[in-house]
Amino acid sequence: MNKESEALLLQGAGELGLDLGGQMPQFAQLLQLLQEGNARTNLTALKTESDIVLKHFVDSLTCLRGGHLNDEFSVVDLGTGAGFPTLPLAIVRPDLDFTPVDSTRKKIEFVLATAQSLGLNNVRPLVGRAETLGQEPEHRGQYDRVVVRAVAALPILAELALPLLRVGGLLVAQKGPISPEELNAGRRAAGEVGGTVQEVESFNLPMLGDARTLVVIEKVKATPGKYPRRVGVPGSQPLF
Ligand code: SAM
Repeated sequence: MNKESEALLLQGAGELGLDLGGQMPQFAQLLQLLQEGNARTNLTALKTESDIVLKHFVDSLTCLRGGHLNDEFSVVDLGTGAGFPTLPLAIVRPDLDFTPVDSTRKKIEFVLATAQSLGLNNVRPLVGRAETLGQEPEHRGQYDRVVVRAVAALPILAELALPLLRVGGLLVAQKGPISPEELNAGRRAAGEVGGTVQEVESFNLPMLGDARTLVVIEKVKATPGKYPRRVGVPGSQPLF
């Protein structure tokens, strides 16, 4: 990692109240593995060091805002892609257990290999569709938190994520600016699957200033058994 990117990462994390001093070698290695992986197969559209550092690493760490990931929680990262937000979070929070999920095998293979190279034994990647996992007893109602970044509109996320949570668990959805219509539809969908919107926090990404929103949905009662609907339906026919 070049000096400029190192400074950006330290400053960005610092603005989130995180001191990455001891973890910089892991972030440097993550950057290198991502760039090598990108050269072999298209893992992420972001190519420059500063973009990866700010828009993947720092952005992923913003889901620690508000303290929703405290304690020794089990955390699903739904639609993790090349490992975001899981990998940056797992580096700074070794106390949390992460299950990054993606339907694309090659992405999960990358996340697994990268977690192993980084010595992260708190990351257990899983190939699968949220619609399927949410109906399997091994996964349904089993997790304390679901984090999700850049996967779908809020009503779809509610249907995909809430079934995986235990009652009392939280979905922490990282969004860009969210329209009142999407938020309203998300509230109604959350209600349908046993959840309620607990918090909507708007902020700006450190340094870049891009608008971000964290939407936190609490699971307040069991999700009706018919949700999630079969593969593809939550996306093609959103609840609201
Ligand atoms: N979260 C990552 C990030 O922020 O860089 C990746 C975002 S990428 C735009 C969306 C990912 O979600 C893709 O890798 C896709 O395969 C995965 N995905 C979409 N719908 C899914 C589903 N129903 N179950 C599992 N993975 C899904």
